[in-house]
Amino acid sequence: MHSPQSPHIVVDAKPYLSFCSNDYLGLANHPQLIAALQQGAAQWGAGAGAAHLLGGHSGPHHALEQQLAAFAGKPAALLFSTGYMANLGVVQALTGKGDTVFADKLNHASLNDAMLLSRATVRRYRHGDLVQLAQLLAEHGGGRKLIISDAVFSMDGDIAALPALLALCEQYDAWLLVDDAHGFGVLGERGHGTLSHFGLASPRIIYMATLGKAAGVFGAFVAAEQVVVDTLLNHARSYVYTTATPPALSVALMQSLQLIAQGDSQRAHLYQLIAQLREGMAGLSWSLMPSDTAIQPLLIGDNRQVLALSEGLRERGLWVAAVRPPTVPQGTARLRITLSAAHTEGDVERLLEALHELAR
Ligand SMILES: *Cc1c(COP(=O)(O)O)cnc(C)c1O
Repeated sequence: MHSPQSPHIVVDAKPYLSFCSNDYLGLANHPQLIAALQQGAAQWGAGAGAAHLLGGHSGPHHALEQQLAAFAGKPAALLFSTGYMANLGVVQALTGKGDTVFADKLNHASLNDAMLLSRATVRRYRHGDLVQLAQLLAEHGGGRKLIISDAVFSMDGDIAALPALLALCEQYDAWLLVDDAHGFGVLGERGHGTLSHFGLASPRIIYMATLGKAAGVFGAFVAAEQVVVDTLLNHARSYVYTTATPPALSVALMQSLQLIAQGDSQRAHLYQLIAQLREGMAGLSWSLMPSDTAIQPLLIGDNRQVLALSEGLRERGLWVAAVRPPTVPQGTARLRITLSAAHTEGDVERLLEALHELAR
């Protein structure tokens, strides 16, 4: 890619209309974020220079953590360098030998890696199958219990039944780690995420979200009870043993939180585009998977066919990623179409026309 992230990208000197970023609000190249990043670098320098606990934790990190905690409706928050590292850190710090982690089979790879690294016993349930999850919880022996789930599943776009998951946590005295990589900034009141979407709050919930998707910058955070955050700060190895992110990123992210909170019209536009895409796909031989979010996967099934389709789109100036096993289960290769508030109705129309042409 030889252009900033946006619906209009340049790849190897050719322009494309792109439907594969997670930049759901179009903030990655927003002038106010660029200005905040420049101002942050001018004031705080290029790099943090040390891990948080060794003198790398600066004013902007701290201020951003306080704003993120308030945004997530939690008493405290902790910044991580990436979402991948946040998930590794939480599961490893809170569970170990003798504990049990319960996980949806379609969870993100970082949650899967996290539970293996934790050395806890692992119990995976079929996607969304809370009857099976309840059985696994009932069979469970001693130790701590942690249920982990994507809030919006990254390759499917569907939303986890978080109220029912929380009810099971209460029934079986378990913790719930919610990975809101694709809900933060997009779902809920003023973009506050999937917990807000469901009106859910509980001290049992450990909320994690990434800051490189809708927030348009980089990084991740975990928001939870103060005692949980204190535990992570001392025991999450992916927090303790790594250099803090550049403080300028935190300056940019505080600007991003404001843009997210003011982004109701962008979110309304995004939801119109989702409806337009779903209506326009009716009658096509392939079907969109059941999703109400900006992730709209078109299920193709066969690996070669999905690559051919992605290639056909590319020849027509459209960039849409083909996703194949092992990222998704065997036989479910798909085009992962993602929409952004930065797309126009005309952009979606172009994609629909190309897909109808290729279907013929
Ligand atoms: C992208 C993603 C992550 C990882 O976040 P990064 O900040 O990119 O490391 C974690 N979980 C889910 C569900 C994701 O989609």
